[in-house]
Amino acid sequence: MSATFLGMPGNFPKNAAQAVQDSQLRYNLRKATHTIRDKRLKAVAELPDWEELRAAGKAIKDHTLRHLDRYLVQLEEAVTRAGGHVHWARDAAEANRIVSDLVKATGETEVVKVKSMATQEIGLNEALAAQGITAYETDLAELIVQLGDDFPSHFLVPAIHRNRSEIREIFNTKMAEWGRPAPANLTDEPAALAEAARLHLRERFLKSKVAISGGNFMVAETGTLVVLESEGNGRMCLTLPRTLISVVGIEKLLPTWRDLEVFLQLLPRSSTAERMNPYTSTWTGSVEGQDFHLVLLDNGRTQVLADEVGRQALRCIRCSACLNVCPVYERAGGHAYGSVYPGPIGAILTPLLRGMSSELDASLPYASSLCGACFEACPVAIDIPEVLVDLRAKAPHKPAERAGMRVAGWVLNDSVRLEKAQRLAIRFRKLVPKRLPGPLSAWTDTRDLPDIPEESFRDWWERNERA
Ligand code: SF4
Repeated sequence: MSATFLGMPGNFPKNAAQAVQDSQLRYNLRKATHTIRDKRLKAVAELPDWEELRAAGKAIKDHTLRHLDRYLVQLEEAVTRAGGHVHWARDAAEANRIVSDLVKATGETEVVKVKSMATQEIGLNEALAAQGITAYETDLAELIVQLGDDFPSHFLVPAIHRNRSEIREIFNTKMAEWGRPAPANLTDEPAALAEAARLHLRERFLKSKVAISGGNFMVAETGTLVVLESEGNGRMCLTLPRTLISVVGIEKLLPTWRDLEVFLQLLPRSSTAERMNPYTSTWTGSVEGQDFHLVLLDNGRTQVLADEVGRQALRCIRCSACLNVCPVYERAGGHAYGSVYPGPIGAILTPLLRGMSSELDASLPYASSLCGACFEACPVAIDIPEVLVDLRAKAPHKPAERAGMRVAGWVLNDSVRLEKAQRLAIRFRKLVPKRLPGPLSAWTDTRDLPDIPEESFRDWWERNERA
């Protein structure tokens, strides 16, 4: 059973320090992120109106979020009219209970899944397992993660931390436990690995009576759900089983089909660097031979909506462009974030959704150099650095840190005090240690304090002005 992050022990600096020791992981990540990043730049450069599209995506999402209550009710009415069933889930426990009950009502004990961040966020696989239901992941990378009893580390490429030979090893040793075994003499050629996964999954698709998906978008005016994917596994899951259950975050809404036009251009180019993704599946309500249930998930989203700075994170379309350009993600990898949402968006979305009461969640807003590369890459212009800074101000600080900040604020707030402090520091500059002592040592564990200059800028200016 692939594990879901429901809060990892430790904090980001500790997790990252451990991850950067793994040179194989750093090599895998660097190779993969640079390849996707370069391809994305080319795909985006093909569109002369990219910035206008980006502005349109931002405006549509902001409008929808402002009127979310109205559009959600419109969506519910449209899905119900089309024969679907809508369920509202306040939190993870409620969503898991609804899905488990729906699966149990079918009499089945196995389900196939389309890759979905929302179901990982709520730990659905574990909740189903506790009820005796096995969930089979069908996205290739998710399959690798599940067979390897591993954690996903990227939105788009959850097994980005694995290379070909590691994948071959996982297939050889684990596939048989989950169904059709890997072919004999499996090589680590991509085509051979893909074929092994195809054969393994095909059996599963043909047997399964229940499927669980997420959704990239939901169109309020028609009650249509949209899933974009590259492998065709999603299309199999969405069309073959007799019962389809989709768990979707309430922020995935768009008012009209026309709005979808903007996002069908923004998402593929930003995520897989394609002009158009290979499979775009849309469905509205139940169809003959298939019962459809939509579980609308809040799980902290309305709380994020109430945050004036943080609410922009709900515009996210999970394209992963911000992960691929982030220097911190590239070195630390996805697991260090201890959340289903890694990288720059994870550093804001996780503490926004979960709060900052745990050591890990409070450390996430610091998992950034604030270089701004994520903001530039984001197709819906989420100002991630702005939210990071806001969250840092709200993060619970340790007493010594808080006292240090108070003293710094007191000094910096008054020019006379600042001048006196500068003169004092210059006089005793030789005595200033490179490392801070005691509880403040965390600041200097990984960096030296800068040398204090022999003369302050004020004194230099005064001397040169007089001359
Ligand atoms: S924050 Fe922006 S760039 Fe990052 S995953 Fe979300 S939409 Fe993509």
